Amino acid sequence: MLNLQTIYKPTTLAEALRLAREPDTALMAGGVALISEKRRDVRAAIDLSALALAFIETRANDLVIGATTTLAEIVDSDLARGVADGVLVQAAQQSHASVLRNQASAAGTIIAEPGEIFAVALLALDARLTLAALKDSRVENSDLSLADFFAQRAMRLPHSIVTAITIPASARSRRAQIETVARTPRDRAIVAVGAALEMERGVVRAAALALGGVAETAWRAQDAEREILNQALTEEIIQRAALAAANGLNPRGDFRGSAEYRIEMARVLTARALRGLRA
Ligand SMILES: Cc1cc2nc3c(=O)[nH]c(=O)nc-3n(C[C@H](O)[C@H](O)[C@H](O)COP(=O)(O)OP(=O)(O)OC[C@H]3O[C@@H](n4cnc5c(N)ncnc54)[C@H](O)[C@@H]3O)c2cc1C
Repeated sequence: MLNLQTIYKPTTLAEALRLAREPDTALMAGGVALISEKRRDVRAAIDLSALALAFIETRANDLVIGATTTLAEIVDSDLARGVADGVLVQAAQQSHASVLRNQASAAGTIIAEPGEIFAVALLALDARLTLAALKDSRVENSDLSLADFFAQRAMRLPHSIVTAITIPASARSRRAQIETVARTPRDRAIVAVGAALEMERGVVRAAALALGGVAETAWRAQDAEREILNQALTEEIIQRAALAAANGLNPRGDFRGSAEYRIEMARVLTARALRGLRA
């Protein structure tokens, strides 16, 4: 932010939302992404840290993570570790080096990096977002799936604050696995695949397959999900699902991996994740 002049630290959501309506302002959680951007349009940052949005708790068996909870707090949380074979904690840990995990927030990470591993894990766990907005000067909350949020995010964000991320009880107990490929173990994933399944005597009863690194945001491979639903995970079914996951992808290549490589990795990692869950 090249023209930053003021940092506001509101203590209520209503105040934060009112400030967010003013021109040349930006919401700031950890500030990792925001501060490094060379934006000239932002004159005031609205620091969200005094809004009491850093928490991890269960509500009616759902796991609710406050928007400004840091990735380090998620990694250290026993509640988060207990979710779906620990994939959420794994994704938080793999998202950043430790020094950035102490600063980067859960909501900031999915907004700044919607195609990265943390978003992939949340999408595979059917995560939902709570958004607060002002209506007639009153704070109104709405609930949106992460998938819909990604689809609409340009429209939803300007005057809204994400206050919480919820992982529904139904997804918390799923068997889950995340597979990634990266240039080095500490580098960010080129492609990430998250699979979260509900199995009954070897048959898949509910399936979520999320892919990252192959589009602007993480997205659900619904054709692949259909291939495995109500099926036993035989090698043939796994191959069919992996092909379906890669079919039709049109990723942008970059210095980490070409478009062709990303498509091939989507296929390979989908198969790997499903084989892992079969075992
Ligand atoms: C050196 C460096 C390395 C990085 N490496 C990685 C990496 O390996 N993996 C990765 O995923 N990302 C990486 N990033 C990108 C980014 O910094 C992170 O994704 C970070 O986690 C953002 O979280 P934050 O809390 O700091 O968000 P901020 O920087 O505070 O905000 C990011 C965006 O989200 C908006 N925002 C934040 N909170 C809310 C909210 N509650 N409601 C509505 N809008 C909100 C802000 O207005 C801003 O547009 C890196 C960035 C840098 C500078």
